[in-house]
Amino acid sequence: MNERSRVVIVGGGFAGLNACKGLRSEQRVEITLIDRRNHHLFQPLLYQVAMAGLSPAEIATPIRSLLSGQTNARVFQGEVRSVDFDRRIVAADFGEVPYDYLLLACGARHSYFGHNDWEPFAPGLKTIEQATEIRRRVLSAFEEAERSPDAGVRRRQLTFVVVGGGPTGVELAGAIGEMSRFTLARDFRNIDSKLARIFLVEAGPRILPMFSEAMSGRAMRDLENLGVQVWTSSRVSKIDSSGVEIGSERIEAATVLWAAGVEATRFATASELPTDRQGRVIVNPDLSVGEYRNVFVAGDQACFRHHSDRPLPGVAPVALQQGRFVAQAIVRDLNGQPRAEFQYVDKGQLATIGRSRAIATIGRWNFRGFFAWWVWLVVHIYYLTGFRNRFFVVVSWAWSYFTFRRGARLIVGKEWRNEGPRG
Ligand SMILES: Cc1cc2nc3c(=O)[nH]c(=O)nc-3n(C[C@H](O)[C@H](O)[C@H](O)COP(=O)(O)OP(=O)(O)OC[C@H]3O[C@@H](n4cnc5c(N)ncnc54)[C@H](O)[C@@H]3O)c2cc1C
Repeated sequence: MNERSRVVIVGGGFAGLNACKGLRSEQRVEITLIDRRNHHLFQPLLYQVAMAGLSPAEIATPIRSLLSGQTNARVFQGEVRSVDFDRRIVAADFGEVPYDYLLLACGARHSYFGHNDWEPFAPGLKTIEQATEIRRRVLSAFEEAERSPDAGVRRRQLTFVVVGGGPTGVELAGAIGEMSRFTLARDFRNIDSKLARIFLVEAGPRILPMFSEAMSGRAMRDLENLGVQVWTSSRVSKIDSSGVEIGSERIEAATVLWAAGVEATRFATASELPTDRQGRVIVNPDLSVGEYRNVFVAGDQACFRHHSDRPLPGVAPVALQQGRFVAQAIVRDLNGQPRAEFQYVDKGQLATIGRSRAIATIGRWNFRGFFAWWVWLVVHIYYLTGFRNRFFVVVSWAWSYFTFRRGARLIVGKEWRNEGPRG
């Protein structure tokens, strides 16, 4: 008979990985972590890959190597398709895995608000594949503009629309602005990359609504200084292969990027678990679900709203703290102690705009400009996983900062076949 409790964790993101690490020294459990990808991805720096500032390997680390020293954990790469909560079995594409405790930490994916047909024209930013695809589209637009003799084509190629004025949209728009004004300015002969038009389109009345009005106004001015036109109260009504429509207005643009909405990964939520409108599983104060005390949901996949009327936001610190909390809840169970309630410690908000500006709200304090950017930099380096990654990111950033260059400006496509016939 197996006397160790079988803990199955689905998802090796911030929540899953921290739950697993929280059980590092607990010999009464055996952990199986399942993720469809072989790597843990530091999503807050994904826009840097999309904007050619960093290479994928600098912000992603194999989950297996992160857990190689943890003898009570094994890692399976695979996709979980469903869960049988009564039989306590997880069904993955490689077979079934039984559990005593289950943590679902599958994160979120993009939501096109019922317009999934927009996705091919406006990719979102969630995975390394999407980041390199965005990088390909943005850099290719400058290449096409450079070789086209047609002014109309050049104008369309040099028009970029980012939909969604949250932190990701702001980061993307700011980075395109900076890249066109500084990084690429010396590299082209037929076009003036500084003339690129960048639109940030937001349906709400202001960008970065999680910050105060004054701070979001400051971010807007910083973006405008980088040549970004910010359109608020503007709801996109159509996206196609040649641009976007906002009511009766049309912007002809070769590159449209989506940063407007997310919904929870839904495989398990199709079953009997209670969910909110974004598909997030509504959790109990101890992050368990409904009457299943042995099933936890954490991170972006969870909807936790016990200490305020608004659910906790889908950000890394929430996922990280919830992952650690689930590990503690399991240990308490094993010790025969009562479970606590999850309490989120909000350490503040950060958003960066271009190469050396940011806004930060920490407690009652607001920071902006260069100092806020330093805070942003230190926090991101601190939380980035793996010593090697931290080292290379610091070197890349220092180089980009002083030279205005971006080291990862490679256009790589989806082509996988051999190029041309062999001798
Ligand atoms: C571009 C971008 C920028 C961001 N910037 C910030 C920021 O600056 N600050 C901040 O705090 N937060 C930021 N966030 C949000 C933050 O990254 C998320 O809140 C956090 O990653 C959530 O952690 P998680 O563990 O819940 O999910 P994730 O980190 O998304 O991990 C989920 C894991 O589950 C795996 N998975 C999903 N479905 C399955 C399945 N069916 N079977 C097996 N495995 C599965 C995935 O492969 C993934 O590894 C950003 C997010 C994005 C996309």
